[in-house]
Amino acid sequence: MELVSLAKTRLMNMTEASCIFCKIISREIPTEFVAETTNTVAFWDIVPLAKVHLLVIPKQHHRDVAELSENAPQILSELLSTATDLAKKYTAGSFKLQFNTGAEAGQTVFHAHAHVLSETAKDGS
Ligand code: 5GP
Ligand code: ZN
Repeated sequence: MELVSLAKTRLMNMTEASCIFCKIISREIPTEFVAETTNTVAFWDIVPLAKVHLLVIPKQHHRDVAELSENAPQILSELLSTATDLAKKYTAGSFKLQFNTGAEAGQTVFHAHAHVLSETAKDGS
């Protein structure tokens, strides 16, 4: 790999000092995790847009799902498993998985994340 690409990859894999989700992972911002796997964590969205609104994120910093898919597809696969496991646990079976990608698509936190959204919670609420 050429030196510039190598340096970029190294930088990308580092925790980004200003990234709010990296701070959640490092526990600098205390947040209850509803799930944790080797490479992912999940927690409730602070501004829920649905009855069930969870976020699933990779522990490694990648700016969006496209970069995650390109650089760490096995982690994206793990993230999808975490998301669908949580959907099984917290919803009645109908849910959306959403990856806002790019500012124009509504992405506000530039650390890849899946939204798990549902209007039918498992407990019937
Ligand atoms: P985006 O708009 O980038 O797709 O989604 C970012 C999501 O992160 C938003 O739904 C927002 O409410 C959520 N969020 C931003 N900061 C925090 C935080 O500090 N804690 C939690 N739990 N969620 C956050
Ligand atoms: Zn980050």
